[in-house]
Amino acid sequence: DLGSSLRSTLDDLRGKSRISEEDVDEVVTQIQRSLLQADVDTGLVMDLSDAIRERALDEEPPAGTTARDHVLRIVYEELVDLVGESTEVPLEEQTILLAGLQGSGKTTTAAKMAWWFSKKGLRPAVIQTDTFRPGAYDQGKEMAERAEVDFYGDPDADDPVQIARDGMEATAEADVRIVDTAGRHALEEGLIGEIEAIAAAVEPDRNLLVLDAAIGQGAKEQAQRFDEAIGIDGVAIAKLDGTAKGGGALTAVNETDSTIAFLGTGETVKDIERFEPSGFISRLLGMGDLKQLTERVERAMEETEAEEEDWDPEDMLEGDFTLKDMRHQMQALDRMGPLSQVLDMVPGLGGGMMDQLPDEAMDMTQERMRTFEVIMDSMTEDELENPRSIGASRMKRIAAGSGTDVDDVRELLEQYRMMERALKQFQGMGDADMERMMKQ
Ligand code: GDP
Ligand code: MG
Repeated sequence: DLGSSLRSTLDDLRGKSRISEEDVDEVVTQIQRSLLQADVDTGLVMDLSDAIRERALDEEPPAGTTARDHVLRIVYEELVDLVGESTEVPLEEQTILLAGLQGSGKTTTAAKMAWWFSKKGLRPAVIQTDTFRPGAYDQGKEMAERAEVDFYGDPDADDPVQIARDGMEATAEADVRIVDTAGRHALEEGLIGEIEAIAAAVEPDRNLLVLDAAIGQGAKEQAQRFDEAIGIDGVAIAKLDGTAKGGGALTAVNETDSTIAFLGTGETVKDIERFEPSGFISRLLGMGDLKQLTERVERAMEETEAEEEDWDPEDMLEGDFTLKDMRHQMQALDRMGPLSQVLDMVPGLGGGMMDQLPDEAMDMTQERMRTFEVIMDSMTEDELENPRSIGASRMKRIAAGSGTDVDDVRELLEQYRMMERALKQFQGMGDADMERMMKQ
């Protein structure tokens, strides 16, 4: 399926230290396919693609990050940006009004949300104002009973606004009132006028638009009309247990400048989840373990940063120069610029000294550094601390593990030895100069 092909495309980037335009295009194409199939609006998909492409090619991967992790992180961040954070649902006294077309899932969602609030220790009540659909009262009452929450409705009344008013009084003891409304098949004047009047009567704290997961691009007009009428604060997507992935709801979210609050994942009152970006994204892409993957990337990046803080350049001057030191130096260089420029800035280090250093020690391009970092990521602690212990068979293993060539590994070790030699030459320098140079 689409999710696993995206996964393997990302995996193919694992060994690479550099990302090509074709690599990025391949990833973007697969994401586009998944999202379009999940009913995400074409315009939104294009915006997302541009953002991913631009960032993946422009941004330098942070030190110690592989091409794959770099792209994965950008993809994830942009997708979170697309789907948005979860709507805040404070656990406090409030009135929530549900809007949406007939059959979208309002009555079911009302009971589910009531159940959800009751599990959070609040006392919810459902107010059923639907006088349009036959059996609406019975359906609402039955679902509220299943959720074991308070319910108000009036099967004999025909004025939804009056029911809403009476319902607010009748449920005075409840903490959270969920006001269910009638839907119509279409967005006719009557429906919009009715929900405006109900909103005026109950003064809701938030209005949620309930959408069927299969809504597709029809979400746009609905969202606009309800937003104009009462203002939409959040979206609830129902029926996500079916084949529909709910991408159309993102159009509504975008249109109303709101976020997603709840997901309905079945017919019973317990089948409700709070919206959470990573789970929804995984669902959209059909990629089960996206969150785990991104968490691993985050962790790896944090470790790199933490290690950097622990590193004291003076240790390097006193003890043996190891590959770990070299990696830190490379990371520092990455921030500072080429080594030759750095050395030029050190007072008292005239041309004479510079000339004695082999050119190769100075010449490390970003690309080479990136390759070296990928290689070092595949080394054990022991190998990093004792590079001299790395023989031919270990070189082979490291090359295979990092997706590089044995020649690259050999080159890294040569570079290491060259830097070690260069460092020995520095050791006669004044401590203050050296420290200044290292900390710059
Ligand atoms: P309303 O007209 O907006 O109030 O929609 P309803 O709440 O009556 O739901 C319409 C239909 O969709 C009913 O048959 C519900 O059982 C069904 N439904 C609602 N939410 C879900 C869901 O999350 N999963 C499934 N499978 N069915 C749902
Ligand atoms: Mg209903």
